[in-house]
Amino acid sequence: MSSCIFCKIISKEIAGKIVYEDDQWFAFDDINPQAPVHVLIVPREHIPTLNDLKEHHRDMIGSLGSVINKVAGIKNVKDPGFRVVINCNPDGGQLVYHLHVHLLAGRQMTWPPG
Ligand code: AMP
Ligand code: ZN
Repeated sequence: MSSCIFCKIISKEIAGKIVYEDDQWFAFDDINPQAPVHVLIVPREHIPTLNDLKEHHRDMIGSLGSVINKVAGIKNVKDPGFRVVINCNPDGGQLVYHLHVHLLAGRQMTWPPG
């Protein structure tokens, strides 16, 4: 989608600090990190929100766990631990409408989240 900032990062029209990529997923450092490690993991396909997932996305979503695992390994945070978050729509705090998973690490997380 031409106006989408994450689509532009995926197509490398806009520079991003790439952490990992494969045929379905793309991961890059968040521009405004909320923790020492803050990576965004996004599908290459422009899917606006978690609500827009369809049956044909099943395999892609099935691979998300291993992608998270790989990104956590690349950032060396598997043992200390990390948090993954998906914000959906306004009440969820979503600002960019291209589905993304936040991977946060490098400090003690708190609960409940704000
Ligand atoms: P959300 O509130 O879940 O939609 O999160 C959007 C995230 O995208 C925020 O953490 C932003 O800091 C991040 N972000 C926005 N623009 C960029 C960009 N150009 N490169 C990297 N991260 C970005
Ligand atoms: Zn997009």
